[in-house]
Amino acid sequence: MSSRETAASVCVVGSMALDSIETPEGSATDVLGGASTYFSVAASFFAPVNLVGVVGSDFPEHERRFLDSCGINLDGLTEAEGGTFRWHGRYHENMNIRDTVDLQLNVFEQFQPTLPESYRASEFVFLANIQPSLQSDVLSQLESPLYVGADTMDHWITTAPEELRALLSRVDLVSINDSEVCQLAGEGNIVRAARKVLELGPSHLIVKRGEYGALLFSSNDVFAVPAFPLEVVTDPTGAGDTFAGGLFGSLAEAGEITRETLRRAIVYGSVVASFTVEAFGLDRLRALSRAELDERYRAFMALTDFHTY
Ligand code: AMP
Repeated sequence: MSSRETAASVCVVGSMALDSIETPEGSATDVLGGASTYFSVAASFFAPVNLVGVVGSDFPEHERRFLDSCGINLDGLTEAEGGTFRWHGRYHENMNIRDTVDLQLNVFEQFQPTLPESYRASEFVFLANIQPSLQSDVLSQLESPLYVGADTMDHWITTAPEELRALLSRVDLVSINDSEVCQLAGEGNIVRAARKVLELGPSHLIVKRGEYGALLFSSNDVFAVPAFPLEVVTDPTGAGDTFAGGLFGSLAEAGEITRETLRRAIVYGSVVASFTVEAFGLDRLRALSRAELDERYRAFMALTDFHTY
């Protein structure tokens, strides 16, 4: 396996935020968040990361230094006049369910991602959840990416179906949750819905199922990975984005897409996500080491090892 220093780079485009979060375990105010932030920090354990995003003039300098200390390239981070995107979420007792209490787009409303010249050769690319037309625009700025993934949400499935279909015909992997797969396919059964989504163009589909883990579908294969069983889940925010970050980081570290590298990557994605939810915001990832990730990866193998008996 190659190491982080020699790995191919991962480019990510998406939201950067200051989040306020309430869960049954407590609350946090104005903490670092956003899809591309979570993704970048997770991917940075495995590969160099090129981040594209926008923050406002209120974005804390120490958080910029933190991202820099993770080895994340911030040449594509724009600071615009105004406030940083803010999201306030509240989780139910069943933490698979959350409500958005407040959302202030602020400088994110005018986000027009432009890739710095040095990012255009990125081989692994993740288009986090933004307007599908902007995701397509980013794709057009890349020279010849090896592997492109995209996330989306119910809002875009409903309001921009044509733009979303155009995007999906150009990406290799889609990573969305179970209800979104069914909504996108107009089909209640996940397996049949997955087949329909693959017909739209991507060669791989990841269905995120919260505390129940994830499924990887391709035309001739299905792989299931559980979520790591944890006694305490403190804050599920960012689990999906760190899952994608771990997955893309691991793929970039491997440098090629095979059945094996994909399976390893989806397990690493689950491993990083399992750490994310142990504390509020990015707090657990701030204190995490690659050795701890590898140790839990091995625990994951033990958790699902039954074929030898
Ligand atoms: P996740 O829990 O993986 O869905 O990611 C949560 C992150 O997404 C939070 O840090 C939010 O700041 C960010 N977020 C919430 N709503 C949106 C939105 N409409 N567009 C982009 N990012 C969002």
